[in-house]
Amino acid sequence: MAPLPFDSGLSAAGGPPWPRGSALLTNSLLNKGTAFTERERDALGLRGLLPPRVFTLEEQVSRVLGNLRRKESPLEKYIFLTTLQNRNETLFYRLMQDYAEEMIPLIYTPTVGQACLEYGAIFRRPRGLFISIRERGRIAEVLRHWPVTDVRMIVVTDGERILGLGDLGALGMGIPVGKLALYTACAGLHPAYGLPITLDVGTDNASLRADPSYLGLPHARVRGTAYDDFINEFVAAVREVFPRALLQWEDFGNTNAFRLLQENRPRLCSFNDDIQGTAAVAVAGLLAALRETAGNLADQRLLFLGAGEAGTGIADLYVAAACSEGMPEAAARARCWFVDSEGLVVRNRPGRPLAHHKLPYAHDHAPLRTLAEAVEAITPTVLIGVSGQPSTFTPAILRRMAELNPRPVVFALSNPTSQAECTAEAAYVETQGRVLFASGSPFPPVTLGGRTYTPGQGNNVYIFPGVGFGALACGAREITDAMFLAAARRLAALVTSEDLALGRIYPALTRIREVSLELAIAVVAEARKDGLSTIALPADPRAELTARRFEAVYREYV
Ligand code: NAD
Repeated sequence: MAPLPFDSGLSAAGGPPWPRGSALLTNSLLNKGTAFTERERDALGLRGLLPPRVFTLEEQVSRVLGNLRRKESPLEKYIFLTTLQNRNETLFYRLMQDYAEEMIPLIYTPTVGQACLEYGAIFRRPRGLFISIRERGRIAEVLRHWPVTDVRMIVVTDGERILGLGDLGALGMGIPVGKLALYTACAGLHPAYGLPITLDVGTDNASLRADPSYLGLPHARVRGTAYDDFINEFVAAVREVFPRALLQWEDFGNTNAFRLLQENRPRLCSFNDDIQGTAAVAVAGLLAALRETAGNLADQRLLFLGAGEAGTGIADLYVAAACSEGMPEAAARARCWFVDSEGLVVRNRPGRPLAHHKLPYAHDHAPLRTLAEAVEAITPTVLIGVSGQPSTFTPAILRRMAELNPRPVVFALSNPTSQAECTAEAAYVETQGRVLFASGSPFPPVTLGGRTYTPGQGNNVYIFPGVGFGALACGAREITDAMFLAAARRLAALVTSEDLALGRIYPALTRIREVSLELAIAVVAEARKDGLSTIALPADPRAELTARRFEAVYREYV
């Protein structure tokens, strides 16, 4: 077994004495299946428990790949991969690494959306911890049930805003499980270090509550003080039981997400991927797109559809980026406009008071009801969809963007694919191929007028694995917005002129390991600059970080 990549003691899977016999075969971190050598079979009590022929990892990869490709639907492939992950993680991650472009959409968006919707039906075996509000008063005890004592990365959701699919309650577990798999596949976090957690406080999804096979607590969401007390106890328990863990808040509803991040940042090294990770990937895409339009940040007018975690997170990071280039903050904020479910976000809008996170972007303007009206009034250079509302970037709106701009920038970031504000095809067709386009979930290439455009995937997978890995490697005391900005800049710089020529404003997913390493190095540099690093690394940490990555290869146990 590879030594754990951080300076830890042993974890449950960390070293000898190895479990023997069937206990070894059912330990997914150690199991090699048919690849156990003759010597290992004799020494570890495996003789007879496996068919006689010994296979190499490469031969196993080719067999599982063939089996996977014979499955007809993405959901069947998801189930197949989950089962493989539960059986043999080395083989699972070898497949993930070698076929990243094919595998990431299967274990993450868009397939994970379908998997969450059907999590109850496809549930085979639990992965991660389900902590329900009934466990109030003993959350630390529940955390101690996890078999690994040295957890370093926790991804936690309460299932209230799963992708653009809304409240899925306990079924949201697919998201933390998938994100942790990406931490390993993309950045090289050792799989033993990751802990997926779902906090179950009930669900406001009436159809789930009425479903007899629903896996979670079938009552309305607990809110208010009881919810806050539950979260506070959870945070305190994490600090007590896993003091070295970094925590990623994931897919919380926006009434809680901003608050939880602000309240807990000072006491727990944590970040919210929907707010900060999305922001970094979108700003990176914008910076790469500006290389094509020859524009600069200060000259843009950004119009967002959706004023939630993703939208205002992106705007905040745009403001930080523009300020760092010398633009006054107020001027940068004035460049960002939002349309939410009630129309253009403006100061003194009649109706419900604006949520706190929208106030910095509520400018003086007459109220407008629709996105089309807002496009006319604001004449944006950049249109960003983060509303979870499909087909809202209509052909007319896309055509108008192309009339207003020689190279309009359009990001349809809502996930999964079914929720995207427009398809890649619509974006290219309606702008005669002039658009600089990115989507949250992948779309196939589009051929138009003899040219093929490969749309970029503006997905957080480019950001959080590298940021988290870098922060863990240097023992960052805090994850700052400056780290996300550094990651965004580095990501944009990794986009090649060949990518841009294909219409792609992100690097190919096949480069995700390299990309994540580069971002981790950028985060380490940022942490050092701000005095937040607690683990000494060489001046150039590249070799050290490379060596710490989990490699999906088999080790000899005897
Ligand atoms: P959120 O719930 O915080 O915000 C959603 C916003 O959309 C709210 O402001 C709401 O008012 C607005 N909205 C809802 N219906 C609308 C309508 N009909 N017209 C205009 N606005 C409307 O959610 P979020 O975290 O900001 O996520 C939004 C979407 O972005 C989701 O689909 C999510 O999957 C996607 N997202 C993508 C990525 C990525 O990597 N590409 C990352 C994070 C979020």
